[in-house]
Amino acid sequence: MRYPEIKTKLPGPKAARLIKKDKTYVSPSYTRVYPLVVKKGEGTWVYDVDDNRFLDFTAGIAVCATGHCHPEVVRAIQEQAERLIHMAGTDFYYEPQIALAEKLSSITSGKGSKRVYFGNSGAEAVEAAFKLARWHTKRELNIAFFGAFHGRTMGALSLTASKTIQKKHYYPLVPGITHIPYPYCYRCPYNLCYPQCSLACVDWLEENLFKTTMPPEEVAAIFVEPIQGEGGYIVPPPEFHKALKELAEKYGILYVADEVQSGMGRTGKMFALEHYGVAPDIMALAKGIASGLPLGAMVARSEIMDWEAGSHASTFGGNPIACEAALTTIRLLEENLMANAAARGKRLMKGLLALQKTYECMGDVRGKGLMVGVELVKDRETKERAEEWRDELIKGAFEKGLLLLGCGQNSIRFCPALTVTDEEVDVCLTLFEEAIRKVAG
Ligand code: PLP
Repeated sequence: MRYPEIKTKLPGPKAARLIKKDKTYVSPSYTRVYPLVVKKGEGTWVYDVDDNRFLDFTAGIAVCATGHCHPEVVRAIQEQAERLIHMAGTDFYYEPQIALAEKLSSITSGKGSKRVYFGNSGAEAVEAAFKLARWHTKRELNIAFFGAFHGRTMGALSLTASKTIQKKHYYPLVPGITHIPYPYCYRCPYNLCYPQCSLACVDWLEENLFKTTMPPEEVAAIFVEPIQGEGGYIVPPPEFHKALKELAEKYGILYVADEVQSGMGRTGKMFALEHYGVAPDIMALAKGIASGLPLGAMVARSEIMDWEAGSHASTFGGNPIACEAALTTIRLLEENLMANAAARGKRLMKGLLALQKTYECMGDVRGKGLMVGVELVKDRETKERAEEWRDELIKGAFEKGLLLLGCGQNSIRFCPALTVTDEEVDVCLTLFEEAIRKVAG
């Protein structure tokens, strides 16, 4: 079995020197939780500048779907870079962009053809969805969820309701957005229990919101993460999306699925909403789509994407290198990586559920495929959030060579590359247990 190899104290000497420089020259707005200065990556493993080797269960925040530097993705990038790097897909045509749009149109669920807008990031994909929803419906209001993360540009940030620091000093934001509670059954905002609740969280919209502050015929769209990502890897109950979509349809409200984190095979299906048997009207994609090259895509049913030339565009969006990386990524996902995500995800979930029996602090274990979260609590009964334990655990795991990230107030996410093996899952579980024992054992 291959384990991480930590040869220096962390950060090592080269990493420490670079971090010192970073503190002088790089924006202090970034949220680094541990001092990892990455030099190279290979599959599920990354090496820092001091040649320490880490097992990566972050995949660059759920981005490197095919693993770090998958040889076929690297080849696609190299070959395209030799042919053409940029010409501007806004003003000229690119074959890879057209091919990718055709592919996305065919793999996204829902009948009929779709069209694709290309940007460079998740925020841009959401921003485009936001603008298209207004354009198409000519309505001004929108609904999003507490805990949602949709990005940090002003429009996307207005939909985001994850952490106040993300909004502090940035008001006024785009008006007309109402946030409602996400179906977070472990901490039900209505203090109810699934399934006895009969999805009161959906009924609440019609019974309260639409009768008091939001005329439904003025609502353009509901923006929803099929599984909430930054908010804590929160998995809604099985009937939630269908019920909410039906309600949206009743009032002509568009259903916008933000699949930026949950999409591209991560949950064992190409898009997480497929687990719920629901097809969205508009979808935002990014992160895993191009294995690490910057690319965002907004996919909408053709009759919805009715905006005119000049109404929205981006110079770099749909860059041919990123599109080639995406085409190769999608082929690899379809060949076997999506199936691997489902199988390895089951093993990871089984291992974590077994650990939960021993460690009281693992309040909730949830997820689908390789989008798995563990919520840490000080007490199973009161569910008091163990935020500091979470942070300590992540740092402890880093020192053992296991890379993890937090999400929500007190959760840990496991989102490795979809190439992860059984052995790597087992090594992750062993190191995670060592780290958890240190913090809360
Ligand atoms: N939407 C979701 C669900 C995300 O998780 C993120 C990023 O974490 C974004 C949008 C924003 O993506 P980006 O950071 O690429 O702008």
